[in-house]
Amino acid sequence: MKKQIVIIGGGFAGINLARQLANTEGIHVTLVDKNNYNFFPPLLYQVATGFLEVSNISYPFRKLFHHKKNINFRMGELQKVVQEENRIVLSTGDLSYDYLVLATGTESNYFGIENIRKAAIPMKTVDDAIEMRNYLLQKAEEATIATDDEEKKKLSSIVIAGGGPTGVEVAGMLAEMRRNILEKDYPELKGNKVRIYLVDGAPTLLTSMSKEAQEYAYDTLLKMGVEVKLNKLVKDYIDETVIFADGEKIPTKLLFWTAGVTSKVFDGITKESYGRGRRLLVDEYNKVQGTQNIYAIGDTSLQTADKNFPQGHPQLAQVAIQQGKNLAKNFKSIFSGKSLTPFTYHDKGSMAIIGRSKAVSDIPKPKMHIKGFIAWVIWLFVHLFSLINYRNRIKTMYNWTVAYFTKDQSLRMIIRPMVKP
Ligand SMILES: Cc1cc2nc3c(=O)[nH]c(=O)nc-3n(C[C@H](O)[C@H](O)[C@H](O)COP(=O)(O)OP(=O)(O)OC[C@H]3O[C@@H](n4cnc5c(N)ncnc54)[C@H](O)[C@@H]3O)c2cc1C
Repeated sequence: MKKQIVIIGGGFAGINLARQLANTEGIHVTLVDKNNYNFFPPLLYQVATGFLEVSNISYPFRKLFHHKKNINFRMGELQKVVQEENRIVLSTGDLSYDYLVLATGTESNYFGIENIRKAAIPMKTVDDAIEMRNYLLQKAEEATIATDDEEKKKLSSIVIAGGGPTGVEVAGMLAEMRRNILEKDYPELKGNKVRIYLVDGAPTLLTSMSKEAQEYAYDTLLKMGVEVKLNKLVKDYIDETVIFADGEKIPTKLLFWTAGVTSKVFDGITKESYGRGRRLLVDEYNKVQGTQNIYAIGDTSLQTADKNFPQGHPQLAQVAIQQGKNLAKNFKSIFSGKSLTPFTYHDKGSMAIIGRSKAVSDIPKPKMHIKGFIAWVIWLFVHLFSLINYRNRIKTMYNWTVAYFTKDQSLRMIIRPMVKP
């Protein structure tokens, strides 16, 4: 009888685990995801700003698993784990497992500010990116016909909350668009000052990166005309106005939220299994604390056994990829009676793009901080080769080449799904 491994979530962690278990004797894998496609979050903001198409950064699971005889895909959202019966409840029915792996990533954290949850546009999913693109374009159209000064101001001010890599990348991209595209697409807005604010409660941008990277990002964004406001905690969003803890206000209809993430809590997993940021506490083999056959990998897990990362690993793609691969190795060891390998993270560095020919990159070994054009080229290649397959790499390369030479793209269509009354 084959062992049934059920993986919930086909992001970096889940997909790497599944791929490594492909065509392994004695194991059957069911990959469950609420979407029917895998996608590449680091390039979502390029979809949101109309530089890449959705199909450049996503791929259907069922096609990925052609010729993988022991892998099934099941579309559905995890709702409950019934541990005593080794069963899960999905939005699309039940599934039984011998081993369950939670690789569900994170969701946006609004820190309990309900008005922001309702009004701000996050940047976590493909749906968010499409929504951001539609919203930006829709508001630009509204700005062309606005007559009231206050209304015009709200439509011409963009606030990006969160100065991590995503916030920096969105701000930089919008600044490039303002310079190269705005007047060509919207001649009616000539002379109308579009203001881009990047705000963060911390004293620096890119807090997880080196001082050099932080300073370069800050200086570069200022030169590009982005108004960077640090030590600025967003407190609320009332009457289309962002309100900060120190009382300052910015009226805007365009609030983008990249300020934080939190993991998901699932019914049937006890409270004691969750740690900081609602991440699932796992041992050195990624087994969830207090369970026998449930594992967690990637962003949703919190592992403190790695001696180099006693506070847990950063929530990065490389951690998720490496944990997925290590768990696959350990499953094979479990079934062949070999000893297990504890997880250790091999840090490959971090990077962020700021604008055309401008990026920062921190490399751990040998320790180096690279900025400017070379960092930008490294960023392009790393991201290109990290896409899931050749088809997506070629399509992305094509779109980037067009964008580089024309300083433009032609993907700025407002496309909304039909909603039947
Ligand atoms: C905009 C953005 C930019 C980023 N840029 C970078 C970067 O440049 N470099 C970097 O290293 N990291 C970056 N990250 C972080 C990186 O994307 C994450 O660390 C990585 O995706 C974590 O992988 P994961 O497999 O744990 O989760 P994810 O990749 O988030 O995958 C989770 C999967 O689970 C599915 N899922 C969630 N809940 C359920 C449920 N209840 N039922 C069924 N399926 C479910 C989701 O649909 C998704 O497919 C970025 C993240 C974002 C959002």
